[in-house]
Amino acid sequence: MKNSTIKTATIVGAGLAGSLWAIYLAKAGYKVTIFERRTDIRKAEISAGKSINLALSTRGWTAMKEVGIERSIEPLAIPMTGRIMHPTDGELTYQPYGEEGQAIYSVSRGGINAKMMDLAEATGNATILYSHKCVDVEFETGTVTVVNSETNETLKHTADVVFACDGAYSAVRYSGFQKLDRFDFSQDYIDDGYREILLPANADGSYKIDKNALHIWPRGRFMLIALPNEDGSFTCTLFMPFENNEYSFDKLKTKNDVDNFFKNVFPDFYEMMPDIADQWEDHPLSSLAIMRCYPWTSGKVALMGDAAHATVPFYGQGMNGSLEDCYEMGRLMKKHNENWEAVFKEYQEVRKPNGDALQDLSVYNYKVMAEYVADPHFLLKKKFEHRIHDLYPNKYLSLYSMVSFSNIPYAEAHSKGKEQDTFIEGIMAEHDIESLMNSGDIDQLIHTVFKNK
Ligand SMILES: Cc1cc2nc3c(=O)[nH]c(=O)nc-3n(C[C@H](O)[C@H](O)[C@H](O)COP(=O)(O)OP(=O)(O)OC[C@H]3O[C@@H](n4cnc5c(N)ncnc54)[C@H](O)[C@@H]3O)c2cc1C
Repeated sequence: MKNSTIKTATIVGAGLAGSLWAIYLAKAGYKVTIFERRTDIRKAEISAGKSINLALSTRGWTAMKEVGIERSIEPLAIPMTGRIMHPTDGELTYQPYGEEGQAIYSVSRGGINAKMMDLAEATGNATILYSHKCVDVEFETGTVTVVNSETNETLKHTADVVFACDGAYSAVRYSGFQKLDRFDFSQDYIDDGYREILLPANADGSYKIDKNALHIWPRGRFMLIALPNEDGSFTCTLFMPFENNEYSFDKLKTKNDVDNFFKNVFPDFYEMMPDIADQWEDHPLSSLAIMRCYPWTSGKVALMGDAAHATVPFYGQGMNGSLEDCYEMGRLMKKHNENWEAVFKEYQEVRKPNGDALQDLSVYNYKVMAEYVADPHFLLKKKFEHRIHDLYPNKYLSLYSMVSFSNIPYAEAHSKGKEQDTFIEGIMAEHDIESLMNSGDIDQLIHTVFKNK
C-alpha cells in the first residue's frame, strides 16, 4: 500500500529536461521514479566528439542555478563569445554575440545529460530505470504503463504526479494526450534536413579553428555550422534542403558528389578535411520538425520540454527553453504550495505563448544564420544596435541578447524584437548610418533619438 505521507512523482524520459526536473522534485522532497527508454548513456562508450553538442545560454544556466548545479556543469562548457563567418572566398569575419564577457556555451549533449543524471541520483530521492519504455498513461490516476525492453515485462506505476519529458516524439503525448477530446496538435517538417560531420583535432590535440566561437559557413539557402568539443574536435552540422534546390541533399549521392560539393562550396573547410566524403555516411541524414500542441496538462500529467514544444534548432534554444520549463514549473510549485491542479493550470497558460514564440524565433533565425549574417545591411544594423546598447544599456537590448542573454519571456522578447526592428529600420531609412558610423557622428543621432525614449 502506498504511504500517503511520501510525495511521489514519475518522470518519463531522462533526457535534458527530465534529468534536471528530477533534481528539482527530489530537492523538494519527492520520491522520483524516472523511466528511460534507452540504456544508461553513462555506460556507453561515446567520445565527446561523436555526440552532438549544444549551445547553452542564460535561460539554461538560470534553471540550473536555481537548484545549485551550475558549478558542476561549468567544467563541461566551452564559451563561444561570437560567430565567425566563413565566406566562400575572402576574409573571415567575427561578430560578437553580446557585450564583453558574454558568451553562449558549447556542451556535449551526452556529457551534460550524464552529469545531470549523476546529480539527480546523488540527491538520494531519484531512481532512473533504463530500458523502460513508456507506452501508456492514465491521466486521472497518474499511472504509466512501461515495458522493460530487456525482459519484455510490462509494469504499471502510479505516482501523485507525472511529467512527460520524453522528447519531440513523446509517447505520453501520442498515446495519451492525442486521444483527448479537443487536444490540438500539429507537426510540421521543414524542407531542410541535417547531417553531422566530425572535424577532428590536429595531431597534437589542438583545435583547427578558433575554439571560442561558433563557426558559420552561410550560403543563403543553406549553411554549415561548427561548435567546439572538449577534445579539440568540432561537431559540424550541415543544414540544407532535402531536395528541389540547386544545393540539396538528394544531389549528394556519391563520394564524388560530396567531395566536389565541399571543394567548391566550403573550400576552407575542405582544406581542413579533404577526406570528408569518407565520413559522409558516419551520421544519418535527419529531419527537423516543429510540433505544437495544447493543452499541455491533463489530470495528474504534464508535458515538458520538447514533448510540449519541439522546435527547429536554429536559435540554439530548444534545450534552453526546456530547462526553463523546469525553472517555471519549480517556481509555480512553490507559489501554489504544490497544489498541482493550480500549478498545471498556470504552467500551461504562462508557458504556451512562450513555447510558440520560441518556435517562431527558431524559424526566423535560420534566415539570420544562413543568409542575413552575410548581408551588409544586416551587419550594419547589428553594429548600430551594438552602439545603441553601449550608450543606452537600459533602454535597448537586441533581440539576440533578449533571447540568449536574458530571462525575458520568449513571447515578450519576440514582440519587443519586432517593434525594435521596425523602429531601427525607420531610422536607417532616414539616415545614412554607415557614414555616421564612419565619421563618428552616430552617437549624436543615438542621443537625439534615445534621450527621451
Ligand atoms: C541538430 C540539433 C541541434 C540542437 N541544438 C541545440 C542547441 O544548440 N541549443 C539548444 O538549446 N537546443 C538545441 N537543440 C534542441 C534540444 O536538443 C532539445 O530541445 C532538447 O533535447 C529537449 O530536451 P528534452 O529533455 O525535452 O528531450 P530529449 O533531450 O529528447 O529527451 C527525451 C528523453 O526521453 C526518452 N524517451 C523517449 N521516449 C520515451 C519513452 N516512450 N519512454 C521512456 N523514455 C523515453 C529519450 O530516450 C530521451 O532520453 C538541438 C536539436 C537538434 C535536433
